[in-house]
Amino acid sequence: MSDVQRTHEDDVGSLPRVTAARREAFSRLGVETLADLLRLAPRRYEDRRHPRPIADLEAGETALVVGRVATSRSFRTRAGLAILEAHVADASGTAIARWFYRGFRPKPLPQERRVALFGTVAAVRAEKPEFKSPELERLAEQGTPEPGCGRYVPIHPCTTGITAPVVRRAVWDALPAADGLPDLVPSEVLGEHELPPLGQALRALHFPDDLAAAEQARRRLAFDELLVHELLLARRRAARREMAAPPVPFPTRVHERIRARLPFELTPGQQRAVAEIVADLERPQPMYRLLQGDVGSGKTAVAVYALLGAVARGLQVAVMAPTEVLARQHVETLGAMLADSRVRVERLVGGRRTKARVAALERIAGDEADVVVGTHAVLGEDVRFRDLGLVIVDEQHKFGVEQRRTLVAKGGTKAAWRRPHCLVMTATPIPRTLALTVWGDMDVSVIEGRIPGRTPVDTWVVRPSEGRRVMERVRAELRAGRQAYVIYPLVEESDKLALKDAHAGRERWAKALPDHEVGLLHGRLKRDEKERVMEAFRRGDVHLLVATVVVEVGVDVPNATVLVVEHAERFGLSQLHQLRGRIGRGTAGGLCVLVDRSREETPARLEVLAADTDGFAIAEEDLKLRGVGDLFGTRQHGRPAFRAASLPRDLPLLVRARAAAGALLAQDPALERPDHARLARAVTLRSRQFQDA
Ligand code: ADP
Ligand code: MG
Repeated sequence: MSDVQRTHEDDVGSLPRVTAARREAFSRLGVETLADLLRLAPRRYEDRRHPRPIADLEAGETALVVGRVATSRSFRTRAGLAILEAHVADASGTAIARWFYRGFRPKPLPQERRVALFGTVAAVRAEKPEFKSPELERLAEQGTPEPGCGRYVPIHPCTTGITAPVVRRAVWDALPAADGLPDLVPSEVLGEHELPPLGQALRALHFPDDLAAAEQARRRLAFDELLVHELLLARRRAARREMAAPPVPFPTRVHERIRARLPFELTPGQQRAVAEIVADLERPQPMYRLLQGDVGSGKTAVAVYALLGAVARGLQVAVMAPTEVLARQHVETLGAMLADSRVRVERLVGGRRTKARVAALERIAGDEADVVVGTHAVLGEDVRFRDLGLVIVDEQHKFGVEQRRTLVAKGGTKAAWRRPHCLVMTATPIPRTLALTVWGDMDVSVIEGRIPGRTPVDTWVVRPSEGRRVMERVRAELRAGRQAYVIYPLVEESDKLALKDAHAGRERWAKALPDHEVGLLHGRLKRDEKERVMEAFRRGDVHLLVATVVVEVGVDVPNATVLVVEHAERFGLSQLHQLRGRIGRGTAGGLCVLVDRSREETPARLEVLAADTDGFAIAEEDLKLRGVGDLFGTRQHGRPAFRAASLPRDLPLLVRARAAAGALLAQDPALERPDHARLARAVTLRSRQFQDA
């Protein structure tokens, strides 16, 4: 509208119609400058290409009409409401529009003014269609392009204080600045991948000629994000190749000693993973490997193999578990395996500097601890290792981003320039392609195949009315000396309602099973209390454990054969699969009961679990249904937060971005060339946001 030359660096407040109040609302959307505004991608588009003749409109339809204001007035009702009314006429007829205001009484619309109305026809009375609070666009004279009319119209994110039309108009007014926006991607890369320049892409993103153009624009922006991400991952891989780690040799003698300690033969799948890990450990560069395996695939044994190798070489090993319960379990497993050896396992409890903790720290720094097991407590700043050679992270998706990084940065006092090897385990079966994105700078081992002698777990999806059948089955199992879990969902630790559910559940089960011990485990319990309950369950003193999802990962009680999940509809499929992995760990088989309490009849999603026992297939299904974020339970920890890109949909684009990143770094490994400066800055910025990989 105005002739002022604005640049992308100017404040949004400099745009016409952006008042101080609206300026503030923009701030809340994360928009300060025109550049920010131009990057605010529309949430969707509405087809407002063709105005409808007013005479054709029917009640209930949503439509765009374009016409001139025939008459307009505003008045106040007795109730104090202000109403603006306008009769808008086109060649075919007249429509009536009304808008309602609480406070002031607006001025009537000027007669003859050309306007567009967009909304739902509330009624048609006396051949006049009536709109209630339609979107109003004041139009310039015919032939001038308009942001909200005669096109695919973008619907941007908005917030209190600014509506979509206001944002749209602001973007429209900011559009001339788009061409001045510096493009991250060198033009030869754009050419090679047939991508439009940034300015052009932004225009098409906001005001596309058609939906295909909008999609192409989105892909261009997605490419930028993915390219920066891939550059970051490639640089981290390269940096790691430059680092030194203590090589861990595995002569035959060591292999034999380790095998003798393991209580079972490794499966071929475990052996393959071990071979890959051993090959890494023997090198003088740090291993950085993700060990993926479905629940119950036997990841612990593989990790123990690596651990024993490192200890045999005289290095310290840190094992980080997501909960105290799991840390204790690892200590016990190790303790049993190493009963008559000289390997000293230290369990490091987090929290206050008690006398016991100080003593433990001294042993770790001295020459008195070979293996240190704990939660993120093993990362504490006060923890100094003598010579840390290997870090094992169990169930990595439960970990904070920062924590893992600190640990990897830790070496030892003996040779501080060395970095430890790092093995990260996850039971969230991530489709391989996706794993490469999310943990793109790690090598990946997958444990395939099953542990022999396992009877697969039966899965029932039941409605609440089948409670009696479930109860009978649980009772029968407990009578046979087995144990059972009943799981309640608990989204947040502060979820009072769910907590009440769990308490009530415990009461109900205790009453129904008077001959058995029923325990309750939830996140609100004190740490000691949690451990006491878990410990009692593991010993078999507690027969039925009612729990919120604290038992989700890793707990290993082979005698537990039944798992009942209440409100199964609230869980993700992968999460349920993990839970199901808590049973069927022994040879007795098991039963997983998913109680579907959803109101609507939609058991189809849960039936996937009944039909499939392969975590990878389930994860693929989950991905299709819920997207990447939810695969990890909650949206959290350093998953690549892409704004324009969306995975797995954009995997082909990702593959291209990776190729482009490789080519760029081949020419300019440190991104030092002046024409790569902006790209280099973007990579640095991203590395701060995305610490995880
Ligand atoms: P996860 O991969 O879920 O961490 P675990 O390492 O806890 O699985 O192993 C699950 C169970 O299987 C444990 O009880 C473990 O002792 C047992 N196990 C692991 N490997 C083997 C094997 N090769 N043969 C027999 N049992 C095994
Ligand atoms: Mg485990």
